[in-house]
Amino acid sequence: MATKRKYLIAGNWKMNKTAPDGVELIEGILNEIGSQSEVGVAVCPPFTALESAAKALADTNTITLGAQNMHPEPDGAYTGEVSAAMLRTLYVGFVILGHSERRQYFAESDAFINQKVIAALENNLKPILCVGETIEDREAGKTLEVVETQLKGGLVNVDKKQAEQIVIAYEPVWAIGTGKTATPEMAQEVHAAIRKMLTDIFGSDIADKIRILYGGSMKPGNAAELLAEKDIDGGLIGGASLEAKSFGKLVEAALAQTKADG
Ligand code: PEP
Repeated sequence: MATKRKYLIAGNWKMNKTAPDGVELIEGILNEIGSQSEVGVAVCPPFTALESAAKALADTNTITLGAQNMHPEPDGAYTGEVSAAMLRTLYVGFVILGHSERRQYFAESDAFINQKVIAALENNLKPILCVGETIEDREAGKTLEVVETQLKGGLVNVDKKQAEQIVIAYEPVWAIGTGKTATPEMAQEVHAAIRKMLTDIFGSDIADKIRILYGGSMKPGNAAELLAEKDIDGGLIGGASLEAKSFGKLVEAALAQTKADG
């Protein structure tokens, strides 16, 4: 069951951690994971903690910085918003886009998320595009339909040459922050379907290179079995990313799976 893609373990801190608390967490994570490079590791602090986080990461390539959102316009009258170029000046490499909390609480549409994906790519930021169904969608048998709409909607006009830069995160909404995890089989079924959708859009050479992360109550106790699935290439982690030990254990699980994959 060889996975050809480098695993990515990305922490979504959401609206947690002040700047000093963020630095402490990063120091703790670096302590836990050492200087390995076989697994990609990213942390996504709130905007206010990005600059101090960038400084705390200045001497290492082990962890890449990510942001949790951005506005598609380069500048202008968008009070409270932050542009891709602003993130780049803070050495941000990834940006989470279309998280279900943004879709739910800030009414973000697929079309708006798509504008952000395009702007991120134009600015050399790797989008982590989140897709996932609600419990109502799943119970109505609409999981793949919903995921396909969000995926295709988010990827309109993405250039084939840039597509490899994109990371997809499958995050069933009912599993986020609830302690309920999709079983490995349930997750793999959707990941495989997403890979097929990516193949339809970009062709198999590119689709085989795009990482698809699982997100939704991933923690040290369930990471190994999820990561062992063929199309699960890492995790987007909320709760378990706020503590250095548990996040370190997730990186360890991905390292162990990398070795098992050969
Ligand atoms: C998330 O919000 O991206 C997430 C997966 O959260 P949690 O791990 O807490 O479920």
